[in-house]
Order: sequence, then C-alpha cells, then structure tokens
Amino acid sequence: MYKSVILFALILSACTRSGAPDLSAYSAGHSTRLCGNPALLGEKLDDIAQGQCRIDNPVAVHVVAGVTLSTPATLNCDTANTLADWVENDAQQAVKKLRSRISSMRVLASYACRTRNSRPGARLSEHALGNAIDLGSFTLENGIVLSIKDDWRRRNKEGKAIRALVDSACGPFGTVLSPDSDRFHQDNLHLDTASYRSGAYCP
Ligand SMILES: [Zn+2]
Repeated sequence: MYKSVILFALILSACTRSGAPDLSAYSAGHSTRLCGNPALLGEKLDDIAQGQCRIDNPVAVHVVAGVTLSTPATLNCDTANTLADWVENDAQQAVKKLRSRISSMRVLASYACRTRNSRPGARLSEHALGNAIDLGSFTLENGIVLSIKDDWRRRNKEGKAIRALVDSACGPFGTVLSPDSDRFHQDNLHLDTASYRSGAYCP
C-alpha cells in the first residue's frame, strides 16, 4: 500500500513537471517514435551503404522536440538524439528574448554521399555518415523568421538571437560551422556530432 502511494506520487510528479513538453500534442500524423526518444518523430529507414557512405539504423526525422522540420532529415540516432536535446534544452532557451518559441526549422541538407563541401578529393563529409544537418532558418511561433543568410550580420534582436542560437549548439554538437567559419557556410548552419579530443570545434 505504502509503495503504491509513492509510485502514484512519482507518476503524478513526472506528468506535471513544469516545462516538460506535452508529447501527445505533436505526435499526430508522425506517430513513429524514433531512436527510443519520444521527442523524435518520423520514419525508420533501411540501412544505407553506398561505397564509403553509410548509416546503420537511419531515421527520417519529421518533428524534433515539438519543432517541425521543413523536409525530413536523414540522420543516425546519435545525431538525431543530439538534435532533440539541443532543440529542447538550448535552442528554445536561446530565442527566449524574442518572447516566443521555435516552431519549425528549415533543413537544407542532412544525409548526402559526398566529400566535405563537395570538393573533389576532399575527405568524406560527416553528411555521408548521417552525422550532420544543415539548417537555413528558424521560424518562431510569433511569426518571426531567423535566417542565417539574412540575420547573421544584423545587430538587431533577430541578429543577436541567431548568434545565441548558433553559440548554444557549440558543445552539444562537436562541430558548428556558421557564416563566420568559411565561405561555404554563408547561408547555412552546419551541425555535426563528430567528436574531437580537443573539444568542440566552432570556428
Ligand atoms: Zn553541412
């Protein structure tokens, strides 16, 4: 009897924990939970193996922590889980000053069997292993669109918010490439889970 009361109290506190997303609200239409993570909804895909390019147990993510992706992102589970944690714990926090929440993200690339920056002879891209995603913009519930291309160099609140968003990804992701990094990332934010002994690489 005593035990069941405690169990009931635990269940109740888990359900009413403040800030916990209501997962049922965004599961409609994307009912498959991916990678054992209730924050990841979409489809499971067959293993990918094209030459050196490969992903075991790939997933096509449609919705991540309540945020809709413009086009499904093909990723491995490690990267999909990292994306979910970042959106939920860091990215939403980064846009808080705009008094809104991210509702969707524009995906420019995810899995792609190619070399780095598509240059001939370069090393295999993290995109070729399902470790990377490129994002172009973030749409907030209040209608504001934060665009890497248009807002990065602005000194207004949108410019500050997009820089805060990018900063928040450094650490959760092992590599973060933005317009400050090189000419290949003037209109997209590259996030990948490749890890380095020296820590996150966010030039
Ligand atoms: Zn990329």
